[in-house]
Amino acid sequence: MPKRKDGPAVDPLQQALTVLPGVGPKLAEKLAVRGLVHVQDLWFHLPRQYEDRTALTPIRSLLPGVPAQVEGRVEAVERGFRYRPMLRVAIGDEGHGTLVLRFFHFRAAQVAQFQPGARVRCFGTPRPGQHGLEIVHPSYRVLDPRADDALADRLDPVYPAIEGVGPASLRRLIGLALDRLPDEGVLELLPAGLLEHLHLPSLRNALLTVHRSPADADLQALSAGTHPAQRRLAIEELLAHHLSLRRQRLAQQAHAAPPLRERALSRRLQAALPFELTAAQRRVFEQIRLDLALPRPMLRLVQGDVGSGKTVVAALAAMLAVEGGKQAALMAPTELLAEQHLANLRGWLEPLGIRVAWLAGKVTGRARGRVLEEVASGEAQVVVGTHALMQEGVVFHDLALAIVDEQHRFGVHQRLALRDKGAGGGVGPGAIVPHQLVMTATPIPRTLAMAAYADLDVSAIDELPPGRTPVQTIVLSAERRPELIERIRAACAEGRQAYWVCTLIDDSDEVVAQAAQTTFEGLSSQLPELRVDLVHGRMKAAGKQAAMRAFKAGETDLLVATTVIEVGVDVPNASLMIIENAERLGLAQLHQLRGRVGRGSAASNCVLLYQSPLSALARQRLETMRQTQDGFVIAEKDLELRGPGELLGTRQTGIAGFRVADLARDADLLPSVHEIGERLLAESPDLAGRLVERWVGSAARYAAA
Ligand code: ADP
Ligand code: MG
Repeated sequence: MPKRKDGPAVDPLQQALTVLPGVGPKLAEKLAVRGLVHVQDLWFHLPRQYEDRTALTPIRSLLPGVPAQVEGRVEAVERGFRYRPMLRVAIGDEGHGTLVLRFFHFRAAQVAQFQPGARVRCFGTPRPGQHGLEIVHPSYRVLDPRADDALADRLDPVYPAIEGVGPASLRRLIGLALDRLPDEGVLELLPAGLLEHLHLPSLRNALLTVHRSPADADLQALSAGTHPAQRRLAIEELLAHHLSLRRQRLAQQAHAAPPLRERALSRRLQAALPFELTAAQRRVFEQIRLDLALPRPMLRLVQGDVGSGKTVVAALAAMLAVEGGKQAALMAPTELLAEQHLANLRGWLEPLGIRVAWLAGKVTGRARGRVLEEVASGEAQVVVGTHALMQEGVVFHDLALAIVDEQHRFGVHQRLALRDKGAGGGVGPGAIVPHQLVMTATPIPRTLAMAAYADLDVSAIDELPPGRTPVQTIVLSAERRPELIERIRAACAEGRQAYWVCTLIDDSDEVVAQAAQTTFEGLSSQLPELRVDLVHGRMKAAGKQAAMRAFKAGETDLLVATTVIEVGVDVPNASLMIIENAERLGLAQLHQLRGRVGRGSAASNCVLLYQSPLSALARQRLETMRQTQDGFVIAEKDLELRGPGELLGTRQTGIAGFRVADLARDADLLPSVHEIGERLLAESPDLAGRLVERWVGSAARYAAA
């Protein structure tokens, strides 16, 4: 280790930030809030964009929306106080053009600086104003006529803000940290051969390039995040995340789980089903069966498009646990969905003499006491419920299989909490834990699944049961809403049912519920001959379920609903869905909603109503919906249009919130990441640990879970 003149041998990668001049306990605390604890953390606090102050743009060449640096002399100054204080400064460059600088907050001293004729250099993004282009709150400097006014020789990095630390101090700190960048030998963790192979620079070079980009650096590439220096950082970050998930996985496999081998009961269930399993269902069940037969915990994700029939596969898996004299639990994110699972499972399993218990938040008092007893004694062989299953006080007799439906709605923590309901309590290597099966209807592109779920085995049910007619999707402007009334009338006259889905941009349940109420009243009076009902998130659970149950039983013709019906609800007789304000929803959500129709044999329609004018992006989304019904194609498109953060949701295993990597943009790096990751784990686990520590830091503590 290199000696430093200010102390004994220190590992430069482990130096605390407080070694930097000016970093006392107070500042250190503010930085720690953002996970910046070591000097190296500042090296990896990367710019989110760049400003080019290395050149001047003539005022007449400015373009709206394009950031630029300009220089000019003050031509006029105007202070106004109409609604709030305002300062307008017009600057011009020798009669070639005028630009207005506009300020809403300013001090008197600032006003005094803008003497007519003074030379001002400023940077900002021009926008069209009342009198030509203007820049609101530019960063600026009044040039001293005698002083040097050389242009910057580097691009200015703009860093993600840190509360309580101004941008200038942050830059200074990062500068100080960079001065302490050690030699490549110390810094570099990736194998040299790999970097050469991918034509990527060393870490040291990459860091210096992104923080101190020379004037001639490719600004466009840097802004787009495609510069080789950024790709170099991205591959390391992706690798660190991959390793973190894989280590989690290995830790998981160090646990033991009860092998489940008997299969008479699952055969009996298959024989009793009113339908044949599809080939995809059979294949996935077979994979699960092989996993469960082993004495280590299964951790498998089943992806299957809406309606592909995941529930029955879960029920078959549960039979393997029950037959071994153990228990299975099925947890769903909403009460509505859990209730539907309960009904399905009771329908399938009770004829086989299997006891299915129900546990949700609303099961209280004596009833709850009875259920808890049944669960604890093992009398309940299968337990279906909501989050309530994970609560304290719920003790299983012998939980061997934990099934989580719609897993994207749950966080890693919650998944683990259910696992910890196993007999061994789930701690420490060698502890006995239940097998885990997680299911999702949110298809994830292959590349992404590899990065997002390196800790899970993934199976896909990529086939729909036979006899479904594709849903025809129609995109209509909201002005044509009256025509829809007739369409609903016609469909219901044929004994079909319809959904009318109200969505609003407003996140508040209250506002959305109000809109649904208004729509419900309007439709009820326009369609007096129909039985119209309403379900929304603000209703009591009992009311929601009563409405859903009535719709399922065919006692309601038209159900006005908010997106509470999104997940998993199954009513095969519903063949028409109208979605209001469809332009405001993401592709994944539209796909989930549309999946509520087309579940029976009747030809189904989905009408996407939009408010004009449509943005280009919204138009593309609706067009995608019109063209395809394949969840995987839609997911790929979603990834392209929105990026992976939104696709996966922020609750994923830390997959959102990369510092440099972008799964959509850097997807081509993933195969290398995968390959190098496996090699590192096998050959240099220590190096792997250091990579995880560097990039994932505290999040990696899951590894011990
Ligand atoms: P999802 O994968 O969206 O959770 P479900 O498990 O709710 O789908 O299944 C959708 C519907 O399809 C249910 O009514 C279910 O009983 C039915 N189903 C499942 N598998 C088959 C099959 N192989 N053939 C016919 N219908 C099936
Ligand atoms: Mg489902």
